[in-house]
Amino acid sequence: MDTMITGLHHVTALAADPNENHDFYTRVLGHRLVKTTVNFDDPFTYHLYFGDERGTPGTLLTHFPHPRAREGVHGSPEILETTLRAPEGSLASWAERLRSLGVAVSERDDGVRPRIAFEDPHGMRFSILERADPERPAGYAGGGVDGAHAITGVDGVVIRVPDAAETARFLEGVLGFDADRTEGGRDVLRVGAGAGERVELVEAAEDPRTQMGAGTVHHVAWRVPDDAAQAEVARRVAEAGVPATPVQDRQYFRSIYFRVPGGVIFEVATDGPGFDVDEPVETLGEALKLPPQHEPLRERIERRLVPIRALDAPA
Ligand code: ZN
Repeated sequence: MDTMITGLHHVTALAADPNENHDFYTRVLGHRLVKTTVNFDDPFTYHLYFGDERGTPGTLLTHFPHPRAREGVHGSPEILETTLRAPEGSLASWAERLRSLGVAVSERDDGVRPRIAFEDPHGMRFSILERADPERPAGYAGGGVDGAHAITGVDGVVIRVPDAAETARFLEGVLGFDADRTEGGRDVLRVGAGAGERVELVEAAEDPRTQMGAGTVHHVAWRVPDDAAQAEVARRVAEAGVPATPVQDRQYFRSIYFRVPGGVIFEVATDGPGFDVDEPVETLGEALKLPPQHEPLRERIERRLVPIRALDAPA
């Protein structure tokens, strides 16, 4: 089936202390903080965006960190694990780097692609695998990461749902994902250019019910080139009887949200206008940016938010 979706846009999770969050993504994973803003739906909570130099869709991990966030409970339904893509030959060095920075790493070989698994400081689950990406041959190498090994983007997500067949039917039939039969008996689907970005469905009816909190993913966003493509996705989703939100202006992209059968939240986001719409690429992330509707609250917001330390600046 044809699809308007060209790949993954971003993954958004809840987190606790904003500086621990910032430290991990910039210093440990070597991403760039490309936008410091607030949760547009809860403007006294940060929304931090980490990605490559320009915040290219597909490289973005975004977080709502709150110092007093309660801990999340992993369960079902849940976007359980986010897989990052690194260049061929880099996995061993990532395991070594993470361990040297105090991150517990486990190694996993499912017979298809070996990967290493770990968590961020607040319990968000990740894995890294090696996969050459012709569209993004090199990643952003901050935090002392070797440029040849830098993470080039998000490879996909593992989603735990009560009924994998039901969720797969929606992904294939409505959103136009392709089932990937190369991975044995797994429920793997791909979407986007080239080999595509990956969704693995894991069925687990008996797990505890997920409680959103620090360390859990709030939603995964898929990318579309423009508003017309997004409207077409919205039309198909509505036709399938699934309610979606109206288009939300997220300043750096425009989004719709809906809950896929099985229970997790998907967003469909436009590629543009991009993160340089309100500050130059050279200084992305350095200043707190607010959307026009929250600008009148700036003074109160700035008083309430703990400052993000400029870690590399001299003390
Ligand atoms: Zn989002």
